[in-house]
Amino acid sequence: MSILKVARIGHPVVRTAARAVAKEALRDRLFQKLVDDMRETMYEYEGVGLAAPQVHESLRLAVVEVPGSDERSETEVPFMVLVNPVLTPLDEEREQGWEGCLSVPDLRGVVPRLKRLRLDALDRQGKPYSLEASGFFARVIQHECDHLDGHVYLDRMGDMRSLTFIKEFEDHVRKDEDES
Ligand SMILES: [Zn+2]
Repeated sequence: MSILKVARIGHPVVRTAARAVAKEALRDRLFQKLVDDMRETMYEYEGVGLAAPQVHESLRLAVVEVPGSDERSETEVPFMVLVNPVLTPLDEEREQGWEGCLSVPDLRGVVPRLKRLRLDALDRQGKPYSLEASGFFARVIQHECDHLDGHVYLDRMGDMRSLTFIKEFEDHVRKDEDES
């Protein structure tokens, strides 16, 4: 397995709508290697999700995994692969939450996201699945699926004034949260 180079904003691939993964491609050894490499890359950079355009592959493919130790999440999410995902809101309710992105290094910002959604996708073998997600899990799915349409979380922020460097986030935001 390899750790892949992450594309940052400014690279056109981050801003390009990705193409659907063809069914035949799923049987390709190189596609399966890409999934494994994305998993390895996500672990290396301690992300909870990674989309293929972030590793210079303009495909509708993302990986997600939220460890049980992640204090932002109510639930542990085992490693999952999203091929050609489709999101459907379950209602209109949104909530604010902090996000960061490997393609937008060193920053955090508050982003409003749907609180509950349904995800329809294929797994890495091409088997369709459907699930309902809420809270932080739903947020991660929305963040990764946005990448497949060339969007980053900055585009979704309601108020750019929350944009914060990670150092300042740790010093001020996290500290304030811990104290409250
Ligand atoms: Zn991202």
